[in-house]
Formats: sequence, structure tokens, C-alpha cells
Amino acid sequence: MISIRTIVSETGEVKNHNQKYPYRLNFYSIPPIEEITTEEFEVFALDRLQVLKAIESASLRSRTELQVADHIRDISNQYLPLHSTDGGKNYPLEQERRKDHISHFILRLAYCRTEELRKWFIKQECALFRIRFIEENKEERQAFLNNERLNWNDLSQNEKESMKNELSHANPHIKFNDETFFIVDFEQVLDLVSRRAVYIKAGKAYVPTSEQVTLVVGEFRKRLSAALNLASRAFPSIDDERILPLLNNINQQYLGKTYVYNNNTIVDKVTADNVDQMVGHFPLCMQHMHIKLRELHHLKHFARMQYGLFLKGIGLTVEEALIFWRKSFSSITDEKFQKEYAYNIRHSYGMEGKRQDYSPLNCNSIIMNKQPGPGDQHGCPFKHFSEDNLKVFLTQTGVKKDEHLKAILDIVKGKHYQVACTKYFEITKCLEDSISRGDDERHLMETIKHPNNYFEQSVKLSKINNSQNSK
Ligand code: SF4
Repeated sequence: MISIRTIVSETGEVKNHNQKYPYRLNFYSIPPIEEITTEEFEVFALDRLQVLKAIESASLRSRTELQVADHIRDISNQYLPLHSTDGGKNYPLEQERRKDHISHFILRLAYCRTEELRKWFIKQECALFRIRFIEENKEERQAFLNNERLNWNDLSQNEKESMKNELSHANPHIKFNDETFFIVDFEQVLDLVSRRAVYIKAGKAYVPTSEQVTLVVGEFRKRLSAALNLASRAFPSIDDERILPLLNNINQQYLGKTYVYNNNTIVDKVTADNVDQMVGHFPLCMQHMHIKLRELHHLKHFARMQYGLFLKGIGLTVEEALIFWRKSFSSITDEKFQKEYAYNIRHSYGMEGKRQDYSPLNCNSIIMNKQPGPGDQHGCPFKHFSEDNLKVFLTQTGVKKDEHLKAILDIVKGKHYQVACTKYFEITKCLEDSISRGDDERHLMETIKHPNNYFEQSVKLSKINNSQNSK
């Protein structure tokens, strides 16, 4: 069991809080003080991370607020469900809120370590809080704010009427008669100021209730930022060997499923002779290695490993793999192939040496490990290609519009390689335009985390399209 007493509140003290969670919304001012199992610790942390990464990915892919909210609701229901008191009578509200509470504090600890991690965590947590706040009903919201003593001075009815022109003019979208206006220092609502959505006079901003979320999120951000700074000072004193490895590496954790040869059922049969027909379903990294294999009749060790394990993951048996690689290495003799390559192929299927059944590599390990040098073909094109080479390859493989090209390259510049890969998927599978138009929001997909997941998604999509076309 792990005691999470070490997680301190923003005042530095560990309070004994009421175990009940009266509200769905939480400012996470009071740390959890119970003991949890190491398994819960890990599962809670990784489940919350799924949600935060989904928020990041959806916003980087230029989705509307509505699309992001819909997507996050789906992902949250899967990993971190959190129902409102009002509509959640049939759900285990206490358990849901406990998980939300504890998982926030675990990630707070994991993400307090550097300025960059803190910024990332604050951004995604604020976005999550914002979505939840907007979705919450009015009474629950007000009760939560009262409990947090977040009451701002509001404009009296007479003052409101006397300023009607200025207030309406500042934000023509509001329903003036339905609004109450809060008076706050303009620094508290810089977001609204930059959007020119509030009236400002003498350093004060007049915020309509419909924009209250900005004020509340501002407060959430302020408190979280202070709490993270405090946690960063406490972090060096943590010496629990059971949790330190997870905390130190969580931002690089692979969050998807493991692909192994025998659980693949997405395509009927993969053989040495039909791999070429499937390349259209491959992610860019695998397309690149396949093209190079056909061109050079050879691939170096790490490319053979990366591509070979991917093919194994889509269902290529060891017998078919031996035929595939033998035919592909057409410029060498049989003897050389048997001596130098056949053993490694059988080894990767667990039939030689330690008899370990190797799994296909996920995106994290392709991106982070074994950087390709000159003449190497392995790696991730989004990470390892120069901008010019990537541009050419993207164009050759289906990205035709300049705006699409620019959108992908901008994401790559921000070093979000898996998000760029997801965007590439959406663009080349013609999902992008329908998502942008809002025709079909179901297509807002999870971020690609594994080349075999890319393949699976692509095959599934083409099956859906085929069955729709045949109707
Ligand atoms: S993000 Fe992953 S699947 Fe996409 S190209 Fe890079 S390594 Fe391949």
C-alpha cells in the first residue's frame, strides 16, 4: 500500500478532509490522505493521463470547442467517468470522484518536476476543468462556487441599467436582460480582454455571467500553479522506490494496447504476397520502410526489426515472414540469407535464442530510441525526417492541399509527432474535411500511439466505407 500523505496542499499542510465528495467539480485544494494499492496508483495515474493527452491532441488538431468537449466526454467515460450529482444517481459517484481526486494529485506530483511539465499539466487540467464546469448544471455550479467562497462583486440593477450601452456594445452576443455582471480586476480575465468580450473601465472588467467560466478557470489556474510550485519543492524528498519510476517517466508512458501476433483479427490473412496490397493502410514510418525495401532490396538491422515486428503484429506468420524477406532481399544468395537473416527473423518470433516472443514497437519507443543515422530507414518520419523531406513524402503519400501540409508541419514543429501522424491519418482518409465541417464528429479519433493501431483503424475505416458504398 502507498500512503499519499506526502502530497501536500497549496498551504503546505495535510488536512483531514471529509471523505464525501459533495460536488463533481473540484479545485483539488485538499490532498487525499488514504492509503492506496500500487496497482491503483498506477491505473489512476495512467487513466487520467489518457484524458489529458486526448485534450491536448484534440486541441492541437484545431477542433472546435464543441468537438473537443464531445471527444473528451467519450474518452472520460472510458477512463475517468465523473457524473453530476443531479443526473448520476445510478453511478458510483463516490468512487468516480475519489478516482478523479487521487489521480489529479498523482499527476500533480509527476508533472511538478520541470517548468515545461508544469505548463503542460496546467494547460490540460484547466481545459478539463473548463469542460466540466460548462457541462455542470447551474445549481451545482453555484453550490460549488459558494463552497469555494468564490463570490465576486456584482453590479447593482441600477448601475447595470445606467451602463447598458457600454456593456451591450462590449459583447453584442449576450442577452443583456438575463445577465448579471461581475466587477473584477482586468488581469483576472486576460482571455476575455484579448477576445474583446468585456467592457473595461478604470482597470476593472465587467464580466457577464455567461463568461463566468473564464473567471473560475482563472482561479483554478492560479491555485494549481501555486500548488505545483509547492509540490516541486517537496518532490526531492520523495524516496519511495515503488512510485518514483512511474513518477519520473510518466510523461513518456505508452498508453495503448500491446499488439502481439496472435491477437490480430482485423484482416483475414496476411501473406508474403499480399503485403504490397496493404501498404495503403500503413502509417508513414512503415510506408517509408516498405518503399525503401522495394527500392534497395535490403533494409538495415533496426529497420528490419521495426518493420518485421509491425508485419508480425498485423498477422504475418513466421513462415510467411521468411518468404517475404527472402523475396524482398532479391539481390543476395540463398546461402547468405539463411546465414545472416533467417535466424533473426525466427528469433523475433520467439523461435530461437531466449525464445522471447517480441511485440511490435509502439510510437514512443520508435520516436525516443535508436535514432537513425545516415543510410538507416527506421524511425518515425515526423520526428526524424528533415522538414523538406517530410514535405515531399507527405505530398507523395496523399497530402495534396497546402493548408493540410501546413497544418501537419506546424504540429511537427511543436514536436507533437503522434498528433501529426493522427492528423495525417485524418487528412489522407478524407476525415479531415468532414470533421472541419462538423458533418461527422464521431470520426474525431484517438491519437495514434502505435503503428499497428494506425493499421487497425485504417482497415476498420475502409470496411465501414465499403459497407456504406455497397448499400
Ligand atoms: S507517429 Fe508512430 S505510427 Fe506514426 S509515423 Fe511515427 S512511429 Fe509511425
